Amino acid sequence: MAVVGASRRPGAIGRQVVANLVESGFQGPVYPVNSKSDVVLSMPTYPTVSKIPGPVDLAVLCVPAPEVVKVARECGKKGVKGLVVITAGFKEIGGEGERREAELREVARHYGMRIVGPNCMGVINTEPDVCLDASFAATRTPAGAVAMVSQSGALGEAILADASAAGLGVSMFASVGNRADVTAADLIEYWADIDSVRIVLLYVESLGDPAKFVEVARRVGRTKPILAVKSGRSAAGAAAAGSHTGSVAGADVAADTLFQQCGVLRVESFREMFALAAALLHQRLPQGPRIAVVTNAGGPGILATDALDGAGLEVPELTPRTKAALVRALPVEASVRNPVDLIASADAERYRRALRLVVRDPNVDALIVLFVSPIMIDAEAVAAAIVEEAATDKPLLVCLMGRQRGREAQELLRRSGVPVFRYPEDAARTMRSLCRRARMLERESKPLPRLRVDRDAAAAVLDRAAPGWLAVEDAEAVLAAYGVPFAPSRRVTTPGDAVGASHELGFPVVLKAEARSLVHKSELHAVVNGLRNGDEVYRAAEDLRRRLARRFRGLRLLVQKRAPGHREILIGMTRDPRYGPLFAVGLGGTHVEVLRDVAFRIAPLDGGDPAEMFAQLKGAPLLGRFRGDPPADVALACEIVLRLQRLVLDFPLIEEVEINPFILAEPGGESLAVDARLRLQG
Ligand code: ADP
Ligand code: MG
Repeated sequence: MAVVGASRRPGAIGRQVVANLVESGFQGPVYPVNSKSDVVLSMPTYPTVSKIPGPVDLAVLCVPAPEVVKVARECGKKGVKGLVVITAGFKEIGGEGERREAELREVARHYGMRIVGPNCMGVINTEPDVCLDASFAATRTPAGAVAMVSQSGALGEAILADASAAGLGVSMFASVGNRADVTAADLIEYWADIDSVRIVLLYVESLGDPAKFVEVARRVGRTKPILAVKSGRSAAGAAAAGSHTGSVAGADVAADTLFQQCGVLRVESFREMFALAAALLHQRLPQGPRIAVVTNAGGPGILATDALDGAGLEVPELTPRTKAALVRALPVEASVRNPVDLIASADAERYRRALRLVVRDPNVDALIVLFVSPIMIDAEAVAAAIVEEAATDKPLLVCLMGRQRGREAQELLRRSGVPVFRYPEDAARTMRSLCRRARMLERESKPLPRLRVDRDAAAAVLDRAAPGWLAVEDAEAVLAAYGVPFAPSRRVTTPGDAVGASHELGFPVVLKAEARSLVHKSELHAVVNGLRNGDEVYRAAEDLRRRLARRFRGLRLLVQKRAPGHREILIGMTRDPRYGPLFAVGLGGTHVEVLRDVAFRIAPLDGGDPAEMFAQLKGAPLLGRFRGDPPADVALACEIVLRLQRLVLDFPLIEEVEINPFILAEPGGESLAVDARLRLQG
């Protein structure tokens, strides 16, 4: 190891790095490089890298920014394999810094060196045969099963400290800074084969190469859970507010969706990340979403129940058998329904008896145990009882609320691998993540169905279309070529022709005013629904022309057959500049922005994704059999999503598409699109 820019000055990074290397007990030689002083931390220095007598595997660079490239070149000549560039003043400052970073990358490529950084905090590897702390972190990191990547150096330091405080040991840590070369994806791939790494924690602001990240995370995440705190907002939503899909997608949806799809568990905070990491390391995954709550106080029990409900989990009835046994085991004041309330007098013995029964209930997949420590109860004994009963294949999380005496109890639980929380909401969130991971591992990818599409017909329309929003009939033609069924329609200009067209189509019809600049038609009362005869069509057409013809040049009348279906959905796509096609499905029609009930996925979708998207909607029950209404043809809707995917993958110039509404009839009925928009890049 060489440390270039090793320093004598107290507080200097170049001094801290040398100190850390020595203190961590690094197993190889450390060569401080400093052209001005002969000794750093009692170690003789070398004036340049080339003067180092032995071979060097890794060089940590803490020299001023203008010298980095020169030093990197020297390292290259010396045969150094990797650089950790701690120095800042690169891409993050723009201009000159950006050029400097490009040069650094070029030098590294030329000599076949890998770079971590620049602008980073360094790397740590606690493997016993390595013991490398090549960072300027002020805290020593205990060894353990966690590997971490942080995009921010400053946060990296804080994360390391908090991880130790949360009882998590670290196997490897890298602060990747500007990611001139090594990215989170590279590290995850590397960690896949490192036995000591059992779980990966990420702090990322943006993903350098999303496609690679998805591929790696999907593969590695199956054996090693990957948790992420992601900050920073994507620009997708802002760029694309021209459609409902764009405006509903909002800022951060693409990244969120991406993580979800590749099985990365996204958490809101570091606190949540560490708690979840502990749970994943020490607890099994739940077989299902049914959670029992065992408590010694009513209020927290209700809080936990609400939080679980809010997290989409269930708080099921216990079996009559469990309840009967609980009645026998507990005082009469206790409640034997879930949440099971052991009341304030509950001691270790009562917890033990109750837990033993509840854990074995076949209606229960996992437990949250609450304990609000009353003065007269020995909290540590209760903790010990919980630890004993937690040793089953059902996950168990504990929430300790209340006074000081809980501290030993907390330590005991932690040491025994039982995750401890302060608030029921936190426990519920972690439980949800455990369930998500269990579902993710169960999921098998479904192949895409064979779809017949007419690519040439779509290309013919798209080739002659101008950039921007297409004329409505062109958008329709493109989608129709890819198998999206549209309600039959005619475009006319006069009320007389509208009547003629409606007779051809058959009543009832819908009349719409159409013009390029007329975007949300119903806002201007430009959609007249349910016209039953020629007279009504004539009057409506006259009215539309009178109101709108002057305002919208080239106004036309669209006579459209009324779609007979009973459920309106939206199917759309916006292309995220970083992550690619982002698909949306939702309960559609003109209320989309109000309901905001939309589910997203990023391409590539497999055959199973669309159904999962629809199932994810809050309004999903409306698509089934509901209050006497027949179910809607969701299978067809799913097929349309996949057809849309095929279209936008075939034509990368399509930036945005939206079918809204697609009016679903019952299965086998006449489900039809009645309105669509499509935007080409330009
Ligand atoms: P816009 O979105 O520009 O306001 P749409 O063409 O989507 O106009 O029509 C608005 C609403 O009118 C739809 O959500 C739907 O409820 C109804 N509608 C439009 N066309 C039809 C049709 N052909 N059959 C049945 N309902 C329709
Ligand atoms: Mg519409």
